[in-house]
Amino acid sequence: MCAFESNTLPQARAYYWKKVKMNSLNKINGSALKQDIERTADFGAVDCAEGRGRTVLPGTISNGQARSYLIERMTATGLETRIDAVGNISGRWSPPSADDDASPVVAGSHLDSVPEGGIFDGPLGVYAALESVRAIKDSDLTVTQPIEVVCFTGEEGTRFADGVLGSSVAAGNLSIQEALSLSDGNQTLEQALEHIGCKGHGRLDASNWKAWFELHVEQGKRLERKDVPVGIVSSITGTTRCHITFEGESNHAGTTPMTDRQDALTAASEFIVALESTAQNIATNESESAVATVGSLSVAPGATNVVPGSVELSVDIRDVDATVIERLIDTIEQTCNRIEQERNVNTEIERGYDVVPQPMTEQLSQRLRTAAQQCDIEPISLHSGAGHDTMKIAEVTDVGMLFARSRGGYSHSPRERTDWDDCTVATQVLATAIAETAGADLKQCAVDKGR
Ligand SMILES: [Zn+2]
Repeated sequence: MCAFESNTLPQARAYYWKKVKMNSLNKINGSALKQDIERTADFGAVDCAEGRGRTVLPGTISNGQARSYLIERMTATGLETRIDAVGNISGRWSPPSADDDASPVVAGSHLDSVPEGGIFDGPLGVYAALESVRAIKDSDLTVTQPIEVVCFTGEEGTRFADGVLGSSVAAGNLSIQEALSLSDGNQTLEQALEHIGCKGHGRLDASNWKAWFELHVEQGKRLERKDVPVGIVSSITGTTRCHITFEGESNHAGTTPMTDRQDALTAASEFIVALESTAQNIATNESESAVATVGSLSVAPGATNVVPGSVELSVDIRDVDATVIERLIDTIEQTCNRIEQERNVNTEIERGYDVVPQPMTEQLSQRLRTAAQQCDIEPISLHSGAGHDTMKIAEVTDVGMLFARSRGGYSHSPRERTDWDDCTVATQVLATAIAETAGADLKQCAVDKGR
Protein backbone atom coordinates (compact mmCIF):
# COMPACT_ATOMS: atom_id res chain seq x y z
CA MET A 1 0.00 0.00 0.00
CA CYS A 2 1.46 3.32 -0.97
CA ALA A 3 1.39 6.38 1.21
CA PHE A 4 -1.55 8.49 0.16
CA GLU A 5 -3.02 11.59 1.71
CA SER A 6 -6.69 11.06 1.24
CA ASN A 7 -8.32 14.43 1.70
CA THR A 8 -5.91 17.19 0.86
CA LEU A 9 -7.80 19.17 -1.78
CA PRO A 10 -9.48 22.34 -0.57
CA GLN A 11 -13.21 22.22 -0.04
CA ALA A 12 -15.31 24.71 -1.94
CA ARG A 13 -17.37 25.33 1.19
CA ALA A 14 -18.65 23.50 4.23
CA TYR A 15 -22.19 22.30 3.78
CA TYR A 16 -24.62 23.99 6.10
CA TRP A 17 -26.12 20.68 7.22
CA LYS A 18 -22.80 19.78 8.81
CA LYS A 19 -23.49 22.37 11.48
CA VAL A 20 -27.27 22.26 11.74
CA LYS A 21 -29.71 19.39 11.48
CA MET A 22 -31.93 20.18 8.49
CA ASN A 23 -34.54 17.43 8.95
CA SER A 24 -35.44 14.72 11.44
CA LEU A 25 -33.00 12.21 9.95
CA ASN A 26 -29.75 11.79 11.88
CA LYS A 27 -26.49 12.98 10.40
CA ILE A 28 -24.50 10.44 8.46
CA ASN A 29 -21.45 9.27 10.37
CA GLY A 30 -18.74 10.23 7.86
CA SER A 31 -15.97 8.56 9.84
CA ALA A 32 -17.76 5.20 9.93
CA LEU A 33 -18.31 5.46 6.16
CA LYS A 34 -14.66 6.33 5.59
CA GLN A 35 -13.49 3.49 7.83
CA ASP A 36 -15.57 0.92 5.91
CA ILE A 37 -14.38 2.14 2.49
CA GLU A 38 -10.74 2.25 3.66
CA ARG A 39 -10.96 -1.22 5.19
CA THR A 40 -12.43 -2.53 1.92
CA ALA A 41 -9.52 -0.87 0.07
CA ASP A 42 -7.13 -3.14 1.98
CA PHE A 43 -8.45 -6.22 0.18
CA GLY A 44 -6.62 -6.65 -3.12
CA ALA A 45 -4.67 -3.43 -2.46
CA VAL A 46 -2.10 -2.58 -5.12
CA ASP A 47 1.09 -0.60 -4.67
CA CYS A 48 1.33 2.30 -7.05
CA ALA A 49 2.81 5.72 -7.37
CA GLU A 50 -0.45 7.40 -8.38
CA GLY A 51 -2.60 6.72 -5.33
CA ARG A 52 -4.47 4.00 -3.62
CA GLY A 53 -5.79 1.19 -5.84
CA ARG A 54 -7.26 -2.28 -5.60
CA THR A 55 -7.67 -5.35 -7.78
CA VAL A 56 -10.78 -7.28 -6.80
CA LEU A 57 -12.02 -9.53 -9.58
CA PRO A 58 -15.26 -11.40 -8.82
CA GLY A 59 -14.85 -14.75 -7.09
CA THR A 60 -11.21 -14.18 -6.08
CA ILE A 61 -9.80 -14.35 -2.55
CA SER A 62 -9.73 -10.55 -2.23
CA ASN A 63 -13.36 -10.44 -3.34
CA GLY A 64 -14.17 -13.07 -0.69
CA GLN A 65 -12.44 -10.95 1.96
CA ALA A 66 -14.37 -7.82 0.92
CA ARG A 67 -17.62 -9.80 1.02
CA SER A 68 -16.89 -11.25 4.48
CA TYR A 69 -16.18 -7.79 5.83
CA LEU A 70 -19.48 -6.53 4.41
CA ILE A 71 -21.42 -9.37 6.01
CA GLU A 72 -19.67 -8.64 9.30
CA ARG A 73 -20.65 -4.96 9.09
CA MET A 74 -24.23 -5.80 8.09
CA THR A 75 -24.55 -8.19 11.03
CA ALA A 76 -23.12 -5.59 13.41
CA THR A 77 -25.82 -3.19 12.15
CA GLY A 78 -28.48 -5.76 13.01
CA LEU A 79 -29.35 -6.68 9.40
CA GLU A 80 -30.55 -10.11 8.42
CA THR A 81 -28.05 -11.24 5.77
CA ARG A 82 -28.53 -13.56 2.84
CA ILE A 83 -26.44 -14.68 -0.12
CA ASP A 84 -28.20 -15.85 -3.27
CA ALA A 85 -27.11 -18.58 -5.68
CA VAL A 86 -24.96 -16.20 -7.77
CA GLY A 87 -23.34 -14.55 -4.77
CA ASN A 88 -25.47 -11.39 -4.56
CA ILE A 89 -25.45 -10.30 -0.90
CA SER A 90 -28.39 -8.63 0.83
CA GLY A 91 -28.83 -7.29 4.34
CA ARG A 92 -32.38 -6.62 5.46
CA TRP A 93 -33.76 -4.35 8.14
CA SER A 94 -37.43 -4.81 8.87
CA PRO A 95 -38.34 -2.93 12.06
CA PRO A 96 -41.60 -3.62 13.95
CA SER A 97 -43.17 -0.50 12.36
CA ALA A 98 -42.69 -1.98 8.86
CA ASP A 99 -44.97 -4.48 7.17
CA ASP A 100 -42.60 -7.42 6.77
CA ASP A 101 -44.43 -8.52 3.60
CA ALA A 102 -44.24 -5.08 1.97
CA SER A 103 -41.86 -4.53 -0.96
CA PRO A 104 -38.51 -3.38 0.37
CA VAL A 105 -36.68 -0.20 -0.54
CA VAL A 106 -33.24 -1.37 -1.67
CA ALA A 107 -29.91 0.41 -2.15
CA GLY A 108 -26.35 -0.65 -2.85
CA SER A 109 -23.76 -1.22 -5.57
CA HIS A 110 -20.83 -3.65 -6.04
CA LEU A 111 -17.54 -4.62 -4.37
CA ASP A 112 -15.62 -6.03 -7.38
CA SER A 113 -13.21 -3.80 -9.29
CA VAL A 114 -11.29 -3.64 -12.54
CA PRO A 115 -7.57 -4.57 -12.33
CA GLU A 116 -5.83 -1.71 -10.52
CA GLY A 117 -9.11 0.11 -10.06
CA GLY A 118 -10.01 2.80 -7.55
CA ILE A 119 -11.28 2.42 -4.01
CA PHE A 120 -14.59 4.31 -4.39
CA ASP A 121 -16.14 2.75 -7.51
CA GLY A 122 -18.66 0.32 -5.97
CA PRO A 123 -17.74 0.33 -2.26
CA LEU A 124 -19.04 3.89 -1.86
CA GLY A 125 -22.52 2.79 -2.98
CA VAL A 126 -22.54 -0.33 -0.80
CA TYR A 127 -21.34 1.35 2.39
CA ALA A 128 -23.37 4.52 1.80
CA ALA A 129 -26.45 2.27 1.73
CA LEU A 130 -25.37 0.55 4.95
CA GLU A 131 -24.58 3.87 6.63
CA SER A 132 -28.01 5.16 5.49
CA VAL A 133 -29.70 2.26 7.29
CA ARG A 134 -27.67 3.01 10.43
CA ALA A 135 -28.71 6.68 10.34
CA ILE A 136 -32.37 5.82 9.74
CA LYS A 137 -32.32 3.21 12.55
CA ASP A 138 -30.83 5.66 15.01
CA SER A 139 -33.28 8.44 14.09
CA ASP A 140 -36.66 8.86 15.66
CA LEU A 141 -38.44 7.85 12.44
CA THR A 142 -41.19 5.37 11.60
CA VAL A 143 -40.66 3.44 8.37
CA THR A 144 -43.41 1.29 6.90
CA GLN A 145 -41.32 -0.67 4.36
CA PRO A 146 -38.34 -2.94 5.02
CA ILE A 147 -34.99 -1.56 3.81
CA GLU A 148 -32.29 -3.72 2.22
CA VAL A 149 -28.64 -3.17 1.37
CA VAL A 150 -27.41 -5.11 -1.66
CA CYS A 151 -24.00 -5.91 -3.15
CA PHE A 152 -24.19 -7.36 -6.67
CA THR A 153 -21.75 -9.93 -8.05
CA GLY A 154 -19.47 -9.04 -10.98
CA GLU A 155 -20.52 -5.55 -12.03
CA GLU A 156 -17.30 -4.65 -13.83
CA GLY A 157 -17.18 -7.39 -16.45
CA THR A 158 -13.56 -8.36 -15.77
CA ARG A 159 -14.26 -12.06 -15.28
CA PHE A 160 -17.01 -14.52 -16.35
CA ALA A 161 -19.17 -11.96 -18.21
CA ASP A 162 -19.21 -8.53 -19.86
CA GLY A 163 -20.54 -6.93 -16.67
CA VAL A 164 -23.66 -6.38 -14.54
CA LEU A 165 -23.74 -10.13 -13.92
CA GLY A 166 -25.48 -10.35 -10.53
CA SER A 167 -27.96 -7.59 -11.36
CA SER A 168 -28.85 -9.33 -14.65
CA VAL A 169 -29.85 -12.40 -12.61
CA ALA A 170 -31.77 -10.24 -10.11
CA ALA A 171 -33.61 -8.59 -13.03
CA GLY A 172 -34.46 -11.96 -14.56
CA ASN A 173 -32.38 -11.43 -17.73
CA LEU A 174 -30.02 -14.29 -17.00
CA SER A 175 -30.90 -17.57 -15.30
CA ILE A 176 -29.03 -18.80 -12.24
CA GLN A 177 -27.81 -21.81 -14.20
CA GLU A 178 -26.56 -19.73 -17.14
CA ALA A 179 -24.72 -17.44 -14.75
CA LEU A 180 -23.14 -20.21 -12.69
CA SER A 181 -21.83 -21.99 -15.78
CA LEU A 182 -20.01 -18.88 -17.08
CA SER A 183 -16.29 -19.58 -17.14
CA ASP A 184 -13.09 -17.55 -17.26
CA GLY A 185 -11.39 -20.46 -19.02
CA ASN A 186 -10.13 -22.01 -15.79
CA GLN A 187 -13.01 -21.83 -13.37
CA THR A 188 -16.76 -21.38 -13.56
CA LEU A 189 -18.56 -18.75 -11.52
CA GLU A 190 -20.05 -21.58 -9.47
CA GLN A 191 -16.62 -23.02 -8.65
CA ALA A 192 -15.21 -19.58 -7.82
CA LEU A 193 -18.11 -18.73 -5.49
CA GLU A 194 -17.82 -22.09 -3.76
CA HIS A 195 -14.08 -21.59 -3.39
CA ILE A 196 -14.55 -18.31 -1.50
CA GLY A 197 -17.59 -19.59 0.43
CA CYS A 198 -20.02 -17.17 -1.24
CA LYS A 199 -22.41 -19.49 -3.05
CA GLY A 200 -25.83 -19.19 -1.44
CA HIS A 201 -29.33 -20.19 -2.45
CA GLY A 202 -32.32 -18.82 -4.32
CA ARG A 203 -32.45 -15.63 -6.35
CA LEU A 204 -32.61 -12.04 -5.27
CA ASP A 205 -35.66 -10.87 -7.25
CA ALA A 206 -35.53 -7.14 -7.98
CA SER A 207 -39.05 -7.13 -9.46
CA ASN A 208 -40.31 -7.43 -5.86
CA TRP A 209 -38.55 -4.27 -4.78
CA LYS A 210 -40.46 -1.05 -4.27
CA ALA A 211 -37.48 1.00 -5.38
CA TRP A 212 -33.72 0.77 -5.97
CA PHE A 213 -31.17 3.51 -5.27
CA GLU A 214 -27.48 3.57 -6.17
CA LEU A 215 -24.88 6.13 -5.18
CA HIS A 216 -21.77 6.00 -7.36
CA VAL A 217 -18.76 8.17 -8.08
CA GLU A 218 -19.28 10.28 -11.20
CA GLN A 219 -16.15 9.06 -13.05
CA GLY A 220 -16.11 12.35 -14.97
CA LYS A 221 -15.48 16.06 -14.38
CA ARG A 222 -18.91 17.60 -14.80
CA LEU A 223 -19.66 18.00 -11.07
CA GLU A 224 -16.17 19.31 -10.37
CA ARG A 225 -16.49 21.89 -13.14
CA LYS A 226 -19.82 23.09 -11.73
CA ASP A 227 -18.47 22.94 -8.17
CA VAL A 228 -21.36 20.77 -6.99
CA PRO A 229 -20.77 17.73 -4.76
CA VAL A 230 -23.82 15.74 -5.88
CA GLY A 231 -25.54 15.10 -9.22
CA ILE A 232 -28.82 13.37 -9.97
CA VAL A 233 -28.58 10.88 -12.83
CA SER A 234 -31.27 11.42 -15.47
CA SER A 235 -30.47 8.35 -17.56
CA ILE A 236 -27.80 5.77 -18.31
CA THR A 237 -26.61 5.78 -21.89
CA GLY A 238 -27.28 2.97 -24.29
CA THR A 239 -24.29 1.22 -25.88
CA THR A 240 -24.00 -0.41 -29.28
CA ARG A 241 -20.82 -2.11 -30.47
CA CYS A 242 -19.96 -3.12 -34.02
CA HIS A 243 -17.16 -5.18 -35.43
CA ILE A 244 -16.11 -3.98 -38.89
CA THR A 245 -13.82 -5.71 -41.39
CA PHE A 246 -12.09 -3.94 -44.30
CA GLU A 247 -10.79 -6.32 -46.97
CA GLY A 248 -8.35 -5.02 -49.57
CA GLU A 249 -5.31 -6.72 -51.07
CA SER A 250 -1.88 -7.25 -49.54
CA ASN A 251 0.93 -6.48 -51.89
CA HIS A 252 4.55 -5.39 -52.07
CA ALA A 253 5.05 -1.93 -50.54
CA GLY A 254 7.83 -1.13 -53.01
CA THR A 255 6.47 -2.42 -56.29
CA THR A 256 2.74 -1.62 -55.99
CA PRO A 257 2.15 1.88 -57.45
CA MET A 258 0.02 4.32 -55.46
CA THR A 259 -2.58 4.28 -58.22
CA ASP A 260 -2.98 0.51 -58.01
CA ARG A 261 -3.57 -0.26 -54.35
CA GLN A 262 -6.38 -1.75 -52.28
CA ASP A 263 -5.06 -0.61 -48.92
CA ALA A 264 -7.37 -1.79 -46.15
CA LEU A 265 -5.68 0.37 -43.52
CA THR A 266 -6.04 3.71 -45.34
CA ALA A 267 -9.68 2.75 -45.97
CA ALA A 268 -10.17 2.01 -42.25
CA SER A 269 -8.39 5.24 -41.33
CA GLU A 270 -10.72 7.26 -43.51
CA PHE A 271 -13.64 5.51 -41.85
CA ILE A 272 -12.36 6.31 -38.32
CA VAL A 273 -11.88 10.01 -39.07
CA ALA A 274 -15.32 10.22 -40.75
CA LEU A 275 -16.96 8.58 -37.72
CA GLU A 276 -15.25 10.99 -35.34
CA SER A 277 -16.40 13.94 -37.40
CA THR A 278 -20.03 12.74 -37.51
CA ALA A 279 -20.07 12.07 -33.76
CA GLN A 280 -18.55 15.48 -33.04
CA ASN A 281 -21.21 17.08 -35.19
CA ILE A 282 -24.05 15.28 -33.43
CA ALA A 283 -22.57 15.98 -29.98
CA THR A 284 -22.24 19.70 -30.81
CA ASN A 285 -25.56 20.25 -32.49
CA GLU A 286 -28.01 17.63 -31.27
CA SER A 287 -27.16 15.40 -28.37
CA GLU A 288 -24.14 16.28 -26.23
CA SER A 289 -24.05 12.80 -24.67
CA ALA A 290 -23.36 11.12 -28.03
CA VAL A 291 -19.93 9.48 -28.30
CA ALA A 292 -18.32 7.12 -30.83
CA THR A 293 -14.98 5.39 -30.33
CA VAL A 294 -12.79 3.04 -32.34
CA GLY A 295 -10.78 1.47 -29.54
CA SER A 296 -9.23 -1.58 -31.12
CA LEU A 297 -7.77 -2.28 -34.51
CA SER A 298 -5.87 -5.18 -35.98
CA VAL A 299 -3.96 -4.98 -39.23
CA ALA A 300 -2.95 -7.94 -41.40
CA PRO A 301 -0.43 -8.99 -42.38
CA GLY A 302 1.09 -6.22 -40.24
CA ALA A 303 4.47 -5.93 -41.93
CA THR A 304 6.32 -2.70 -42.66
CA ASN A 305 6.95 -3.59 -46.29
CA VAL A 306 3.46 -4.92 -47.15
CA VAL A 307 0.38 -2.92 -48.20
CA PRO A 308 -2.23 -3.89 -45.54
CA GLY A 309 -4.73 -6.37 -46.96
CA SER A 310 -7.15 -6.62 -44.08
CA VAL A 311 -8.21 -4.58 -41.04
CA GLU A 312 -10.60 -5.48 -38.26
CA LEU A 313 -11.80 -2.80 -35.88
CA SER A 314 -14.39 -2.28 -33.18
CA VAL A 315 -16.73 0.67 -32.73
CA ASP A 316 -18.37 1.64 -29.43
CA ILE A 317 -21.30 4.05 -29.72
CA ARG A 318 -23.21 5.52 -26.79
CA ASP A 319 -26.01 7.98 -26.19
CA VAL A 320 -29.03 8.53 -23.98
CA ASP A 321 -31.16 8.74 -27.15
CA ALA A 322 -31.68 5.45 -28.99
CA THR A 323 -32.52 7.27 -32.26
CA VAL A 324 -29.12 8.99 -32.21
CA ILE A 325 -27.42 5.61 -31.84
CA GLU A 326 -29.40 4.34 -34.84
CA ARG A 327 -28.44 7.40 -36.86
CA LEU A 328 -24.76 6.82 -36.10
CA ILE A 329 -25.15 3.20 -37.23
CA ASP A 330 -26.77 4.44 -40.50
CA THR A 331 -23.82 6.78 -40.99
CA ILE A 332 -21.41 3.90 -40.46
CA GLU A 333 -23.18 1.90 -43.19
CA GLN A 334 -23.21 4.82 -45.61
CA THR A 335 -19.54 5.62 -44.95
CA CYS A 336 -18.55 2.00 -45.51
CA ASN A 337 -20.49 1.93 -48.80
CA ARG A 338 -18.78 5.09 -50.01
CA ILE A 339 -15.31 3.85 -49.02
CA GLU A 340 -15.96 0.55 -50.82
CA GLN A 341 -16.63 2.49 -54.03
CA GLU A 342 -13.81 4.97 -53.69
CA ARG A 343 -11.07 2.65 -52.47
CA ASN A 344 -11.96 -0.65 -54.08
CA VAL A 345 -12.21 -2.57 -50.81
CA ASN A 346 -14.93 -4.73 -49.26
CA THR A 347 -16.44 -4.03 -45.86
CA GLU A 348 -18.51 -6.08 -43.48
CA ILE A 349 -20.36 -4.76 -40.43
CA GLU A 350 -21.40 -7.01 -37.58
CA ARG A 351 -23.50 -5.52 -34.83
CA GLY A 352 -22.73 -7.58 -31.74
CA TYR A 353 -23.75 -5.78 -28.58
CA ASP A 354 -26.79 -3.63 -27.81
CA VAL A 355 -27.83 -2.12 -24.51
CA VAL A 356 -30.70 0.33 -24.78
CA PRO A 357 -30.57 3.71 -22.99
CA GLN A 358 -32.23 3.54 -19.60
CA PRO A 359 -33.98 6.59 -18.11
CA MET A 360 -34.23 6.81 -14.30
CA THR A 361 -37.64 7.05 -12.60
CA GLU A 362 -38.59 10.73 -12.56
CA GLN A 363 -40.36 10.55 -9.18
CA LEU A 364 -37.27 9.09 -7.49
CA SER A 365 -34.98 11.59 -9.23
CA GLN A 366 -37.20 14.35 -7.88
CA ARG A 367 -37.01 12.82 -4.40
CA LEU A 368 -33.21 12.78 -4.60
CA ARG A 369 -33.23 16.39 -5.81
CA THR A 370 -35.39 17.51 -2.89
CA ALA A 371 -33.19 15.50 -0.51
CA ALA A 372 -30.11 17.31 -1.85
CA GLN A 373 -31.79 20.67 -1.39
CA GLN A 374 -32.50 19.72 2.23
CA CYS A 375 -28.72 19.27 2.55
CA ASP A 376 -28.14 22.79 1.23
CA ILE A 377 -27.09 21.60 -2.23
CA GLU A 378 -28.55 22.53 -5.59
CA PRO A 379 -27.71 19.37 -7.54
CA ILE A 380 -27.27 19.25 -11.30
CA SER A 381 -28.91 16.66 -13.49
CA LEU A 382 -26.56 14.58 -15.63
CA HIS A 383 -26.48 11.37 -17.61
CA SER A 384 -24.22 8.41 -16.96
CA GLY A 385 -21.91 7.50 -19.82
CA ALA A 386 -20.91 4.27 -18.04
CA GLY A 387 -23.11 1.26 -17.44
CA HIS A 388 -24.17 0.37 -13.88
CA ASP A 389 -26.22 -2.31 -12.12
CA THR A 390 -29.00 0.30 -11.96
CA MET A 391 -29.62 0.00 -15.72
CA LYS A 392 -30.53 -3.67 -15.24
CA ILE A 393 -32.72 -3.06 -12.18
CA ALA A 394 -34.49 -0.25 -14.11
CA GLU A 395 -36.00 -2.94 -16.34
CA VAL A 396 -38.07 -4.34 -13.46
CA THR A 397 -38.67 -1.62 -10.87
CA ASP A 398 -38.37 2.11 -10.10
CA VAL A 399 -34.79 3.36 -9.81
CA GLY A 400 -32.96 6.47 -8.67
CA MET A 401 -29.25 7.12 -9.01
CA LEU A 402 -26.94 9.83 -7.76
CA PHE A 403 -23.31 10.68 -8.36
CA ALA A 404 -20.72 12.02 -5.95
CA ARG A 405 -18.12 14.41 -7.36
CA SER A 406 -14.94 12.76 -8.66
CA ARG A 407 -11.65 14.66 -8.37
CA GLY A 408 -9.98 15.13 -11.75
CA GLY A 409 -12.49 12.78 -13.36
CA TYR A 410 -10.25 9.73 -12.80
CA SER A 411 -11.81 6.30 -12.42
CA HIS A 412 -10.83 2.67 -13.05
CA SER A 413 -7.46 3.88 -11.79
CA PRO A 414 -5.73 4.30 -8.43
CA ARG A 415 -6.04 8.04 -9.11
CA GLU A 416 -9.80 7.78 -8.53
CA ARG A 417 -10.69 10.23 -5.75
CA THR A 418 -13.80 11.58 -4.06
CA ASP A 419 -13.41 13.83 -1.01
CA TRP A 420 -14.67 12.24 2.19
CA ASP A 421 -16.93 15.23 2.80
CA ASP A 422 -18.52 14.66 -0.61
CA CYS A 423 -19.00 10.97 0.20
CA THR A 424 -20.73 11.96 3.44
CA VAL A 425 -23.05 14.59 1.97
CA ALA A 426 -23.99 12.32 -0.94
CA THR A 427 -24.81 9.59 1.59
CA GLN A 428 -26.96 12.05 3.54
CA VAL A 429 -28.93 12.69 0.33
CA LEU A 430 -29.22 8.95 -0.31
CA ALA A 431 -30.38 8.25 3.27
CA THR A 432 -33.01 10.98 3.06
CA ALA A 433 -34.42 9.56 -0.19
CA ILE A 434 -34.38 5.98 1.17
CA ALA A 435 -36.13 7.01 4.40
CA GLU A 436 -38.87 8.90 2.56
CA THR A 437 -39.41 6.10 0.05
CA ALA A 438 -39.69 3.67 2.98
CA GLY A 439 -42.55 5.77 4.35
CA ALA A 440 -40.77 7.93 6.92
CA ASP A 441 -42.17 11.40 7.48
CA LEU A 442 -39.07 13.60 7.56
CA LYS A 443 -39.97 16.77 9.33
CA GLN A 444 -38.01 19.80 8.29
CA CYS A 445 -36.18 21.38 11.18
CA ALA A 446 -36.62 25.12 11.48
CA VAL A 447 -33.21 26.45 10.56
CA ASP A 448 -32.15 30.01 10.18
CA LYS A 449 -29.34 29.81 7.69
CA GLY A 450 -28.45 33.42 8.33
CA ARG A 451 -27.17 34.06 4.83
ZN1 LIG B 1 -19.08 0.87 -10.41
